[in-house]
Amino acid sequence: MADRTRDRLLELYQTLLAAYGPQGWWPGEGPFEVVVGAVLTQATSWRNVEQALVNLKAAGTLSPEAMANLPPDELAALIRPAGFFRQKARRLAELVAWIERSGGLSSVLRLPTAELRASLLAVPGIGPETADSILLYAAGRPVFVVDAYTRRILTRLGLLPHEHAPYPEVTRLFTDHLPPDPGLYGEYHALLVRHGKERCRKRPRCPGCPVAAQCPFPSGSTCTLDPDPR
Ligand code: SF4
Repeated sequence: MADRTRDRLLELYQTLLAAYGPQGWWPGEGPFEVVVGAVLTQATSWRNVEQALVNLKAAGTLSPEAMANLPPDELAALIRPAGFFRQKARRLAELVAWIERSGGLSSVLRLPTAELRASLLAVPGIGPETADSILLYAAGRPVFVVDAYTRRILTRLGLLPHEHAPYPEVTRLFTDHLPPDPGLYGEYHALLVRHGKERCRKRPRCPGCPVAAQCPFPSGSTCTLDPDPR
């Protein structure tokens, strides 16, 4: 049976991939660095996260065991470049404590997807986007990560009714219509982030947009899609 949504999602993916190339996500070495990066990148740019990761590596603390033994103030100081550093240090400490209580990272990453997701969401400060980033990029599970870029782009393309659609509704748009392929989901999310940063910003840069032919909004210089002047 024809699946128009699947066709549109695959067409969008192929267009973004052709335009931007593979994004090589998730940047970082090993699953624990992905876990830490997923927390540190909350509400900040990846450039800031990179410096925090450099600090953690230089201090020899980029492992669950080492981080679990780090005094909270030292952890906060090391991740200061990532912003909200005290709050994020508390989140990392809670996450690492749970990992250690659960038998270590390898054991945690072997948990069934639903159980792992529920456990991550039970850690204070870990929301769906962070949990799904860990599930997808650290544990290789076929879950789709939804962020503000995803919502904005899909809404403009007419694939979502509005940017405030509930998280599960947005993620199901992908998982209900695309094969459960972590490689595809990981690349797709990374491409949406790239497109959202480069083109489909709050004030979209429509002229020359690679997706313009699939977008219901004109790509001319008078594109007035987003009334938000920021
Ligand atoms: S044409 Fe404009 S609104 Fe449409 S996807 Fe491209 S940048 Fe976004």
